[in-house]
Amino acid sequence: MDFFQLRNGEMFAEDVSLARIAEEVGTPVYVYSRATLERHARVFREALEPLGRVHLAFAVKSNPNLAVLRVMRREGYGADVVSGGEMARALASGMPAEDIVFSGVGKNAREMRQGLDAGIGQFNLESEEEGVELAAIAAAQGQRARCALRVNPDIDAGTHEKISTGKADNKFGVPIDQAVAIYARLAALPGLEMRGLAMHIGSQLSDLAPLEAAFTRMGELIAELRANGHTVTHADLGGGLGVPYKAGEVFPSPAEYGAMIARVAKDWDVTFMFEPGRVIAGNAGVLLTRVVRVKRNANRTPFVIVDAAMNDLARPALYGSWHDFEAVKPRGIRMTGNIVGPICETGDTFATDRETDALEPGDLAVFRTAGAYGATMASSYNSRGFVAEVMVDGDRFAVVADRILPEEIYAAERVPEWLD
Ligand SMILES: *Cc1c(COP(=O)(O)O)cnc(C)c1O
Repeated sequence: MDFFQLRNGEMFAEDVSLARIAEEVGTPVYVYSRATLERHARVFREALEPLGRVHLAFAVKSNPNLAVLRVMRREGYGADVVSGGEMARALASGMPAEDIVFSGVGKNAREMRQGLDAGIGQFNLESEEEGVELAAIAAAQGQRARCALRVNPDIDAGTHEKISTGKADNKFGVPIDQAVAIYARLAALPGLEMRGLAMHIGSQLSDLAPLEAAFTRMGELIAELRANGHTVTHADLGGGLGVPYKAGEVFPSPAEYGAMIARVAKDWDVTFMFEPGRVIAGNAGVLLTRVVRVKRNANRTPFVIVDAAMNDLARPALYGSWHDFEAVKPRGIRMTGNIVGPICETGDTFATDRETDALEPGDLAVFRTAGAYGATMASSYNSRGFVAEVMVDGDRFAVVADRILPEEIYAAERVPEWLD
């Protein structure tokens, strides 16, 4: 459920008309709903409450905006980060260091030190090599890094191949059949405090069965590690729960997800950790855009050219993803159009042969479900700059990220004098 709805024939975000935001901030612009973020954060938390000890870490990569992180913080969430930059953001948003989990296959020495110096809660190790390096750095600083070992369960999550992370040939985690041996070697290193296991098998998951299979394997591993005399106090079950992108699609609910875990993990006796991203932020944001032109070619589907492009919202170009597209003031007439941006690539196509509200030049429209993996994936391709981000809260709104102009980006570029 979200708070982007038609009122008297016009789309609102909570109690603010999107037309007003377009007027004051310009387009394209991302618009987030605080109430929607909070609602999703609470529904997810409540679904997991029966598990007992639970640590929730919002996946910063899904939406790293500082105001969004602040909302998550207020809801009691920590952060799952995958780079030093995300760690810095999480800290800047006010998240306590101990609530930060650091995932990612390529943590470098500088980022490891950054995490140790800040005192983050947990490093999720993705390889033995990484553990050895972190152990050396921590020991040299007289510290012990709290760690979980990320295990790759070799399970097909049944999602888009580019966001599948739990198959043996994906780069993430250690192979499940080597996990016990690697855990033992890492636990023997003085710079590490091995305290558990982690898994994250993919994103936009539409089926709980692969998760259940993965978690069942994690349960077996926990038992095996304990039988070998190891301490296991934490189990990080990752993120990945999918959300509907098309009106009418049905996904497993957080409640069903929680009930499945309660069944599979009832005897684990651990602190459960979660790293949700999309399920919290996805439907809490839209990308508001204006139609530049409607280009009609005889006997062909017209092109609805909007001012947003693949650099602002990359998912359709990257993964062929669907985003519902709706007029802000629908006229009650429908049309079929190809929804495209202005970028000089055929890939800059949001939708092909889409049945949509009839649109004319100057009309406003939204791409829905753009709150996760939207603004954060933006680039400045075609020298388009970065779009502004707005957060709505009831009947007020604030710009939570300024529009960054092309001039500001090329101000960082230099022409060496030997080119004169
Ligand atoms: C991307 C990612 C997440 C979040 O995934 P969602 O599908 O957005 O919930 C969680 N954990 C890790 C390690 C990730 O890489």
